[in-house]
Amino acid sequence: MSLNQLPDAFVHRLERIIPPAHWETTVAGLQRQLPPCFRVNTLRAAVDQVLGELQQQGIDLASVNWRADSFVVADTQRQALTHSRAFAEGRIYIQNLSSIFTAQALAALPGEEVLDLAAAPGGKTLVLACAMENRGRIAAVESVKSRFFRLKHNIDLHGATLVECYLKDGRQVGRQVPGRFDRVLLDAPCSSEARFYTADPDSYKYWSEKKVKEMQRKQKQLLHSALLALKPGGTLVYSTCSFAPEENEMVLDRQLRKWGDGLTVCDLDTPFANCQPGLTEWNRKSLDPRLSRAVRILPSATMEGFFLCVLRKTAE
Ligand code: SAM
Repeated sequence: MSLNQLPDAFVHRLERIIPPAHWETTVAGLQRQLPPCFRVNTLRAAVDQVLGELQQQGIDLASVNWRADSFVVADTQRQALTHSRAFAEGRIYIQNLSSIFTAQALAALPGEEVLDLAAAPGGKTLVLACAMENRGRIAAVESVKSRFFRLKHNIDLHGATLVECYLKDGRQVGRQVPGRFDRVLLDAPCSSEARFYTADPDSYKYWSEKKVKEMQRKQKQLLHSALLALKPGGTLVYSTCSFAPEENEMVLDRQLRKWGDGLTVCDLDTPFANCQPGLTEWNRKSLDPRLSRAVRILPSATMEGFFLCVLRKTAE
């Protein structure tokens, strides 16, 4: 299997990031479209009710062993799913399992005050809203106008009444409301490397090492803001859908050095095997050893590549 279509520099970097045992599945992941997954929107309907409705329409579902509200559908039934009334009326949300797991890792609870700092189109905001049973408050921030309106539409369609959407630059939020939130999700804008698809040149045509560095600059600023907005004792999840250490471990490394013992990197149990610990060295530069507790989700038959790290703020 080869990745001839993708930029050489990208493939060479990937060979240094992905362990040999996971190489073939990673390559396969970049060469095909994954089957659709969805999550039942428990703010609008019960899981059994929605399953009955979809099964009546002839849609076959496979359950997910770590998430009772989430299901995988055969790729041949993608259209049936996207044309279903459950989808149109906001009783289901189509979303990859890696994305669901990332939002789940924040462990948001009913009644808390949560910040989603880069929120559109709102897939992870909605996972948080369901976990919080619509009690408490989620501030969902998005800086791109067209994407903000899509976020708002999704929040309304899915009945997530605890969400307030803000059209603003997330880099300003930390200074404006320091120490405010119990939990913060920063699903950062990134080069989207894990979503590259060999058959779709549009997915990778803008990639370059320069672009990765540009994204890193923004990610560093957003993480700085996210940490300022977090309460002492609060939890933060940093995530991207990029494989690049520059956009993941190196962004976190900077803050871990700055905050020292004021930040804890939390252990994360992964109920699937397609993952590897965060890197503690890249380009001959040593990174904070605590980063081995971060998780890189490797592409599988149902999961997209992802990176996530859970931090707890212990300092004032
Ligand atoms: N969490 C979302 C979900 O699961 O549906 C996906 C978020 S996407 C990876 C990152 C988002 O951050 C994009 O919608 C992008 O427009 C937005 N963004 C980029 N720069 C931003 C900034 N400075 N402040 C806030 N949002 C920003």
